[in-house]
Amino acid sequence: MLFSKQWFLFIAMAIVGLFSSTAAAEDAHSYARLDEVSTPHLELDLAIDFDRKQLRGFAEYTLQRHSNSNLLYLDSSQLTIDKAEIWQHDQWQPTKFSLGDVHPSLGQELIVDIGSTATKVRIHYHTATTASGLQWLTPAQTAGKKHPFMFSQSQPIHSRSWIPIQDTPALRLTYNARLTTPAGLLAVMSADNSLSDNRDGEYFFSMPQAIPPYLIAIAAGDLAIQAISDKVAVFAEQYIVDQAAWEFADTPAMIEATEAMYGPYRWDRYDLLILPPSFPFGGMENPRLSFITPTVVSGDRSLINLIAHELAHSWSGNLVTNASWRDLWINEGFTSYVENRIMEALFGTERAVMEQALGYQDLLANLELLEPNDTILNIDLGTRHPDDVFSQVPYVKGQLFLMYLEEQFGRETFDKFLRQYFDDFAFQSISTAQFKAYLQRELLAKHPQVVSMDKINEWIHQPGLPEDAPKPQSDAFAKVEQQMNRWLKGGALQTDSWTTHEWLHFINNLPLDISADNMARLDREFNLTSIQNSEIAHAWLKLSIIKKYEPARDRLRSYLLTIGRNKLVSPLYRELAKTPDNLKWARAVYEQAKPGYHPLTQTVNEALLYNKD
Ligand SMILES: [Zn+2]
Repeated sequence: MLFSKQWFLFIAMAIVGLFSSTAAAEDAHSYARLDEVSTPHLELDLAIDFDRKQLRGFAEYTLQRHSNSNLLYLDSSQLTIDKAEIWQHDQWQPTKFSLGDVHPSLGQELIVDIGSTATKVRIHYHTATTASGLQWLTPAQTAGKKHPFMFSQSQPIHSRSWIPIQDTPALRLTYNARLTTPAGLLAVMSADNSLSDNRDGEYFFSMPQAIPPYLIAIAAGDLAIQAISDKVAVFAEQYIVDQAAWEFADTPAMIEATEAMYGPYRWDRYDLLILPPSFPFGGMENPRLSFITPTVVSGDRSLINLIAHELAHSWSGNLVTNASWRDLWINEGFTSYVENRIMEALFGTERAVMEQALGYQDLLANLELLEPNDTILNIDLGTRHPDDVFSQVPYVKGQLFLMYLEEQFGRETFDKFLRQYFDDFAFQSISTAQFKAYLQRELLAKHPQVVSMDKINEWIHQPGLPEDAPKPQSDAFAKVEQQMNRWLKGGALQTDSWTTHEWLHFINNLPLDISADNMARLDREFNLTSIQNSEIAHAWLKLSIIKKYEPARDRLRSYLLTIGRNKLVSPLYRELAKTPDNLKWARAVYEQAKPGYHPLTQTVNEALLYNKD
């Protein structure tokens, strides 16, 4: 930390603060000291300035003191702090603050002097144009072409790039917000969004349930609204709002199915925001308003397990939250498991098992690429950026772990356990150690001799998969493989009843020595190069790179230029980077695509294309 000379007094206070700390922070990715002072409520007042690509305003926190520290420790990244004030003696008074050195993944510590009696603190600030948690799209980068668009992606530690905040999932806070936008644009948040068609440029929000900071979300653009039910609506650009409402029509039934298994939905409304194609993820479970990529609006409802996933987070993740990013599997493993249970409840076992099998194949491929230590559920990240923890491991290995427990204890017992778990830890953040203690007490001890703690520890603390891990296999996929073998010998394919899943399994399992003639034959018969389903197109384009299948090149270029979802573009860039000619071509395409990519997509793919070792 660097302090200027005149702040000598402040340094002295900081040192007192340092030594009065009662416990080391559990979260290695935050400067917050929740055991000294925490911030259970936020009032946010921000202007959304599209010309400057900037949020500007203040964040005001209610203070809860747990020690006699006079200092509040916050996280910030690339923020400019204009002024800090404290509320004492019934008025706002200026106070001192300092920013620490820049850490490559954590950003900067922001320390504010809150004196001994202040009850609130207010920090005036503005964001950088390069804020890692925000993306600003020009009108040309939207479908409507007339208005700009902006949105946040705060998980895991990007809230601090647009709000000075105690950016650890161990904190839970409520918030109210006032946002201003240019007239005609609609702003939405992970809060109580209004369905009115008021577009006057001033919007008010309230999130009365306590959430972790990474679930604070914001978006603004030329949004239309289409109701699916009295509890569910789609917010999207006009061009896609009707299609999306049709695609996701099963959402109310998904909510009912989840409630029947795991207890009430506790967040009032559940709305979906369809983002522009540059949204870097499939979805983000921002409470009350999941953010969704348009690449799952496929016209055949085949990719809606993504909605089941984001909805499942309303129980696992948003209601019961990982206490640190080392515990991410508590969010994502449970959610992948619940997602699959929702799919089974709505669409039957065959589809659920196909989706398990596709996930399992992805996990096995991913395990090959990862260092053994990074295949541990309770991963040791050190201070590596938690963006690194988002592999298939917390998702699919976590899901397999819960499937294993379900198999061992039986569905009835395990469902009862899970439902109780969501009740007992509702609106709390928990660590892996807390989960293990709860599992021991509520499941293992009550049903002795079924699963040992050694086995649990193997799942949670050892690399790779235990030998007796579930190995999901789909009969439907076995039939696809039989057909494939006949087809490779010149027979015809019967694909009329194939779902997207069967196509994916087929393309992903074609032999890598498939002949150019057979590639052309497939393309001729099934128009794979021009297929609009984003997942099937992805699988086909990846194969086309490996097989140097030139007729797919133009489509590959347009795919990379129009989609920014990292899961769909990054494996293509990785494959292209393997040969010098392709790498040169990929860099040229990337430079053209870059302005439309989110900062997170840019970071990942620039590492693939420019930092090759
Ligand atoms: Zn998730």
